Amino acid sequence: MNMLHPLIRRLVVIGNGMAGMRTVEELLKRAPGRWDITVFGAEPHVNYDRILLSSVLAGEKDVAAIEINSREWYAEHGIRLFTGDPVIAIDRQARTVTAESGRVEPYDALLIATGSRPIVPPLPGLELPGTCAFRDIADVETVIAAAGQYRRAIVIGGGLLGLEAANGLTKRGMSVAVIHLMDNLMERQLDGEAAKMLQRALDERGISFFMNGQTEELLGETRVEGVRLADGRTVPGDLVVFAIGIRPNTDLARLAGLDLNRGILVGDDMRTSDPAIFAVGECVEHRGKTYGLVAPLWDMAKVCADHLAGDADTVSDYNGTVLATRLKVTGIDLFSAGEFLGDESTDEVLFRDPARNIYKKLVMREDRLVGAVLYGDVRDGGWYFQLLREGQKLGSLRDTVIFGQGFAPGADAGAAVAALPDTAEICGCNGVCKGTITGAIVAQGLTTLDGVRAATKASASCGSCTGQVEALLALTLGKDYAPAEGEKPMCKCTDLSHEAVRSEILAQRLQTIPAVQQALDWASPDGCHACRPALNYYLLCAWPATYRDDAQSRFVNERMHANIQKDGTYSVVPRMWGGVTSAKELRAIADVVDRYRIPTVKVTGGQRIDLLGVKKEQLPDVWRDLNAAGMVSGHAYGKALRTVKTCVGSEWCRFGTQDSTAMGVALERMTWGSWHPHKVKLAVSGCPRNCAEATIKDFGVIAVDSGWELHIGGNGGIKLRETDFLCKVTTEAQVLEYCAAFLQLYREEARYLERTAPWVERVGIDHVRRLVVEDAANRQALQQRFLFAQRFAQTDPWAERAAADGAEFRPLATVA
Ligand SMILES: Cc1cc2nc3c(=O)[nH]c(=O)nc-3n(C[C@H](O)[C@H](O)[C@H](O)COP(=O)(O)OP(=O)(O)OC[C@H]3O[C@@H](n4cnc5c(N)ncnc54)[C@H](O)[C@@H]3O)c2cc1C
Repeated sequence: MNMLHPLIRRLVVIGNGMAGMRTVEELLKRAPGRWDITVFGAEPHVNYDRILLSSVLAGEKDVAAIEINSREWYAEHGIRLFTGDPVIAIDRQARTVTAESGRVEPYDALLIATGSRPIVPPLPGLELPGTCAFRDIADVETVIAAAGQYRRAIVIGGGLLGLEAANGLTKRGMSVAVIHLMDNLMERQLDGEAAKMLQRALDERGISFFMNGQTEELLGETRVEGVRLADGRTVPGDLVVFAIGIRPNTDLARLAGLDLNRGILVGDDMRTSDPAIFAVGECVEHRGKTYGLVAPLWDMAKVCADHLAGDADTVSDYNGTVLATRLKVTGIDLFSAGEFLGDESTDEVLFRDPARNIYKKLVMREDRLVGAVLYGDVRDGGWYFQLLREGQKLGSLRDTVIFGQGFAPGADAGAAVAALPDTAEICGCNGVCKGTITGAIVAQGLTTLDGVRAATKASASCGSCTGQVEALLALTLGKDYAPAEGEKPMCKCTDLSHEAVRSEILAQRLQTIPAVQQALDWASPDGCHACRPALNYYLLCAWPATYRDDAQSRFVNERMHANIQKDGTYSVVPRMWGGVTSAKELRAIADVVDRYRIPTVKVTGGQRIDLLGVKKEQLPDVWRDLNAAGMVSGHAYGKALRTVKTCVGSEWCRFGTQDSTAMGVALERMTWGSWHPHKVKLAVSGCPRNCAEATIKDFGVIAVDSGWELHIGGNGGIKLRETDFLCKVTTEAQVLEYCAAFLQLYREEARYLERTAPWVERVGIDHVRRLVVEDAANRQALQQRFLFAQRFAQTDPWAERAAADGAEFRPLATVA
């Protein structure tokens, strides 16, 4: 029996989700030790950031990274946590709750925070395997597993959740169709124009749309195979994800006889019709409104905690919350708040820049901002939201308000965040305002972004406020604020680091080098020799399907698809898969050597044949003849996949344990044509004698009796570095999967001209292991992105020309 001090009362919380646990956190701040707290959660997890499920599905975060409080945290605060044990009954007379396990827990105050349930319509065919919602970790795990097995997904619902689900599924390599009941996507947050821009952007990412689509039936025999719409259209798919809305989860409250409407009815003090029972979050209805975003939860949690803490001077009332929405689809910026549609009592100010895909609409009534829709450039979303919530008169600000805070009288772009009051919300995902951040910086001596994230949670979720948090660090610490090592400017044309430029390319959806230079205020209009190739690579990596490689931003070798030599001639290296060649290839090479009188033929260290001394004007013909024999470029000059060196392996060698040659060929076929921050070399050795020298390669594979050892980050050049051991796998398919995932991580994280060796040293082998080995979902997502980019990988211009001339040329996808 739990003996409590008479002044300590028992609080039971039903629902270990975002609203319930935020209330507990707020209560611990106000009245630590005053309540003996017990939490019941239906899910088997500690509480986590539900809004980041979209990032988990998209492979941008793993499940561990979205945990909010660890089990140790609960223990440290004396909270008893029962996970995977839903409460099934409330006895209001006895003041007890009963959980599914049979546990009965008495309470003095009860907090219901059961959230909501996804709406799934009662369609014929719903019993078929292959359907799910998008609400919790279990759903995401189901969807990820299906994405690994099936190719076509259907998302029903084109609102915020549906589109985030569609984006995640695309990133998992599925082809995705979205069915939406209305004519416009996200019609509750966007006007028609912004909705169409959004649809176009998603369409470019390969998502197809069935608008005005009323789903009537799920089709299939033993598993879902598609859906049929009311107008007769059918959409094929092996997975159907429902994201058509949510309904407050009021089951328990109904059983307990509490007053209900759509949600559990609460007053301004967050009490239900029973004064001993509070309710917060999506399960409640307050003044006729239910909510489906986190901002109201933070307000409710504070008010509820005030009342539970019970200090008469501090109790507050909940008066409702004005909502703002952002879409968490990397590379698509969208913000909407308030009355974005407007009516006859409002005026609108519009800004359109179609070339940069920017659209802004501000809605005003009686000289006050009442609504905003921003597409493409959402940097001023926070400021507009502040103006909207404060309801201040615009006055002379009206002339420039559409251009953003940087144009407001007396402000410059850098001072934007300085001008915000302490109450201005900086992090919408976690409800953190400016005063909390600056207060924590001063009180806790914080000097880094990570420190602020840990102390306040600001910028720890979707990250869209990171720039503002950094500005607050700079503002508060002045010259004592030194950005982290990686923040050095990329080149003399900009103050931004490589990382910052890459994240702006995604955040602002910049698609060309001039667009980057213009949007990021490049100092020199054309850039320089350092930034142009880097930008070209970053754009290729960010938009593999749509970006057109800029040949003028490449070094001469890459432009000519051959290495320039000291006498001005070139060396030509055809690809030789895994170092294996044939009489046909050797004959073709010999013919080319004779025909063009190539003076030197040399076998390289990477197991291929180098034709040295080719004149520039001969290059097209040399390549045409090689292509005609099925030989493509070895990219011996590129910041790209170069060779995959192999030994003869178990097929011939007495010591070989596996077929290293076939493995090397398979790796080379998967990776050739991929651009990288720097050159990349692979090797496969058939036994630990390591004849292919796999331990000095970027990705090295060593066969052992029971499988394959994978090694990364080696270098055999000037700065010799032995690889780090990554992990051991058992099958060939796993070698390919881990290789693709590792290379994609390198492509996405390393700075241009950074080899894998210094990159691995900089980020640490543990970082790579975590993202490539431990987090299987993330590994598969990386692999999918790699394979997706490979669909658009480089061929070589000479090969294309040969094909146009009618010569036999087998492009990337069909090289046998
Ligand atoms: C994929 C996704 C993306 C989102 N993105 C955004 C976004 O970008 N911005 C935004 O503002 N909002 C977003 N949201 C909405 C946001 O997550 C919710 O508003 C928020 O989680 C609601 O908090 P809650 O505590 O009311 O409910 P929940 O977080 O759902 O917590 C309720 C918990 O109670 C548990 N429970 C239910 N019944 C019982 C029972 N009988 N006993 C014990 N436990 C029980 C549930 O299992 C659940 O764990 C998103 C939601 C999803 C699903």
